[in-house]
Amino acid sequence: MADRQRVSRSIALLAIAAICCVAAPAGAAPAPTRYVYATGEIVPIPAAIPHEEGDMVDRRIVPNLRWIAQRFPIYVTDGYSGKLPDGEHVGCHGCHVKHSDHYNGLAVDIVPLNASGRGCDAAWRGITRLAQWAEPVQNRPRAPFRWIGYDGDAGHGCGNHLHLSWEHAIAPMFELAEWVEVFPVGDLGVTREPKRQPRGGFSVVQSGGVTPRGD
Ligand SMILES: [Zn+2]
Repeated sequence: MADRQRVSRSIALLAIAAICCVAAPAGAAPAPTRYVYATGEIVPIPAAIPHEEGDMVDRRIVPNLRWIAQRFPIYVTDGYSGKLPDGEHVGCHGCHVKHSDHYNGLAVDIVPLNASGRGCDAAWRGITRLAQWAEPVQNRPRAPFRWIGYDGDAGHGCGNHLHLSWEHAIAPMFELAEWVEVFPVGDLGVTREPKRQPRGGFSVVQSGGVTPRGD
C-alpha cells in the first residue's frame, strides 16, 4: 500500500475510533496524528518525564513523552545516542543497531519507574500496558509509532526494556529528521499546527516493525 494511502487509512481508522468511543478508557488513542515540520533540536528530557540523568531527545517528541509519563509509570533509560554539536557524547555507546532511531533522537528505551531489578515482575504491568497500547497487534504499531520493541522482539520485553520509535522522515544517522509524526496533546497546552501531509519527493520509512531498525 502506498505510504500516503496507508497514512490516510490510519487517520480514517483513528477518526472512526474517536467517534465510536467517546468514553474511551484512559490511555486510548488521543486523536489522529499529525506531522511536525518545525525544526528539531536535541534537548534534555524535562524533569516531568522520569529519566536517567543526561538523557536527551528531539524536542518534537517531548509533548508525547510527557503525555505518556502522565499515564504510564515510565523511566527513560536512553533517548538520543550520539554526539551533540559541541562534540559531547550523549546516551549509551554502541548499544543500538545501525540506523537506530536513537541516532536521530526519535526513540526512547523505557523500564518501570519503580523497577525492582528482579525481572518481569508486577512493576512491569504498567509498561506492558503501554506496549500493548502502542502496539495492539505484533508488528503493527499504532500511529505515530514506527517500531515498538517488547515481548516477541529479541533483546526487548517485560523484564528487559520497552523501545518506542516515532515515525519520521528518513534522515542520516546523527542528523535531525525533516518531519516527525506525533499524536496531538492540545489539552496539555501544546500549540497545534495546521495539519500537513508529507510532501512528495522523499520516502517515508515503512512502519510495521518489519525491520527492527529502531532498536
Ligand atoms: Zn531502543
